[in-house]
Amino acid sequence: MKILVLNTGSSSVKYRLFDGTDTEAKGLIERIGEPGGDASDHTEALQRVMESVDLNGLGAVGHRVVHGGSKFGSATVIDDEVVQSVEDLVPLAPLHNPPALSGIAVARKLLPEVPQVAVFDTAFHQSIPADGVAYAIDADLASRWQIRRYGFHGTSHAYVARETAALLGRPVEDTKVITLHLGNGASACAVDGSRSVATSMGMSPLAGLVMGTRSGDLDPTVIFHLHRVAGLSLDEIEHSLTRNAGLQGLTGDNDMRTIQRRRDEGDEAATLAFDVYCRRLKEYVGTYLAVLGGADAITFTAGVGENVPAVRAAALDGLAGLGIVVDPDRNARGERIISAEGSAVTVCVVATDEEAEIARQVEARLSPEPAKQ
Ligand code: ADP
Repeated sequence: MKILVLNTGSSSVKYRLFDGTDTEAKGLIERIGEPGGDASDHTEALQRVMESVDLNGLGAVGHRVVHGGSKFGSATVIDDEVVQSVEDLVPLAPLHNPPALSGIAVARKLLPEVPQVAVFDTAFHQSIPADGVAYAIDADLASRWQIRRYGFHGTSHAYVARETAALLGRPVEDTKVITLHLGNGASACAVDGSRSVATSMGMSPLAGLVMGTRSGDLDPTVIFHLHRVAGLSLDEIEHSLTRNAGLQGLTGDNDMRTIQRRRDEGDEAATLAFDVYCRRLKEYVGTYLAVLGGADAITFTAGVGENVPAVRAAALDGLAGLGIVVDPDRNARGERIISAEGSAVTVCVVATDEEAEIARQVEARLSPEPAKQ
């Protein structure tokens, strides 16, 4: 099936046209609405996309939508009711759901005959059991304000877990994997038989691992203290924790390449940031080994996970007692399997491909037969 995958952000549209598993075209419309940008608004941006690809025989459009709340556990054919539900979720994803809604509205208008399917970042994590999503706060407040863990990066974790099982030559239903998606945003996921059972992001993508500019896990008292004692407003605190925290907060740089270079030069802040980043990763690996009762594989993916051997080595250093041994040469060469012979847990590096996973899920949703995995 020919499928156009759209990832509409606040100032950009990423697109990729698939024919089956082949990519026919792809591109990026950037700096939408900015002076000198590629388009003045989302309508013009989507028009540019439609003009630049051959839409003959298009079977579907797949839209990446960040937040599906508690409602969407799988890819969903878009109708007015689905649009309304995604709109209702805007308070939970104020930065991410509005641009996706623009993308959906324009694509439905320009291609009214073509089925449109929403693929949610949160959907994969709907399988996490109740004790893995509930926060231990006032239950009435939580239910009234939809406060719970949702988790994100689900499309990537689903793809990477399946690729890992294939790499191991095992049926995915019978494979336990810890997936570590380390991009600008970063999250860990425990996958048991292709189902997410735990993930590090929470109600928002701010929780969990140390990221490029986000803090990850914090004692909530940090926020009260910054407000009451330091006198920052809530908006200032939110900005600080999402834009000026993580690697950026610790060093002034958010890119792991820069951190590595500075660390090599003996820079103390960069060395500490690297260590904090890797220690948090190791803590989550330990947690998820316990949640899963042991794992068959640990898989690194995304910008940092795919490209930085030092992070992979440090995150899993000293875990031989848990059956995890990384082979330094394989790791340095960036092979797909980087664990040593005899390591009980296989350590893998897999390139993630969220667009391909979206296309796969769209096709599975629209095919008359239930898709075979
Ligand atoms: P996003 O989360 O925006 O999709 P990526 O998965 O592409 O981002 O990850 C981006 C991050 O990955 C960069 O900020 C950088 O820190 C890191 N990165 C990408 N390539 C390399 C590399 N070759 N060496 C070290 N770090 C890299």
